[in-house]
Amino acid sequence: MKLRFWGVRGSFAMCGREVLRYGGNTTSIELVAASGTRLLIDLGTGATELAKLLMQGEFGRGQGELPILLSHTHLDHIQGLPFFTPFFVKGNRIRIVGADPPGLSLQATLQNQLAPHYSPLNGLENLAAGVSIDTIVPGSTFTLGEFEVETALVPHGNMWTTAFRVTADGKVVTFLSDVEYPEPEAPLPEALHLARHADLLIHDAMHSDDDYQLRRGWGHSPARAAISVAEKAAVRRLALFHHSPDATDAMIDETVWRARAETKIELFAAAEGSYLEV
Ligand SMILES: [Zn+2]
Repeated sequence: MKLRFWGVRGSFAMCGREVLRYGGNTTSIELVAASGTRLLIDLGTGATELAKLLMQGEFGRGQGELPILLSHTHLDHIQGLPFFTPFFVKGNRIRIVGADPPGLSLQATLQNQLAPHYSPLNGLENLAAGVSIDTIVPGSTFTLGEFEVETALVPHGNMWTTAFRVTADGKVVTFLSDVEYPEPEAPLPEALHLARHADLLIHDAMHSDDDYQLRRGWGHSPARAAISVAEKAAVRRLALFHHSPDATDAMIDETVWRARAETKIELFAAAEGSYLEV
């Protein structure tokens, strides 16, 4: 399985010279199975960059098919939706899969995002592509094409997010972003279960330790929480993810340097545009 990070920034998109290396777009991760079929995790602003590539191929001709997993509907995870060009081409078939947010259906939440006071698209029904929105119950396991997906609910501030364990070609990628455990170094059993022996764990590492003192309870983790999950679940590699909009490239380098001193697990900071063979 191949993976490409299209957006790695948390909370809101950033620009400027100091974030050029790790990138400023928000969450979007493309997984590609050996056969070439794709699965996208989240529709942050990074998805608009992937869209340009997709439009050069079958999606530009209205022959593309793409399943998209949504972890939750906070803006930084869905802001790319109104600008994801494969939605505008008739014939494309795009399936959005995620849990209902508290108090509202997933369908209604995404429909609101395209309401006229937010977007000129004026509703999901105006997207030319065939778009389906499938609600899942976190904790369930299902298949999307060649990808087997196991899910769990994890705490994210005053709500929660869906974490994913995706298996294809015998390899496992676990996505645990936008998560905060009651104690950073005591990850919840459901997180450890999803991450068990993963080939790659992508984990929230938004806060420096100083930042975490200020922002505890807001739903994000320091790098030591990511390391704790990685060690306890015995993963092969760890990608620190959901970089703070305040974190410059130099600050992220320092986080990686400190984290590497704390563990023997192979780790790196996710960088926009980078490819991995999982
Ligand atoms: Zn986020």
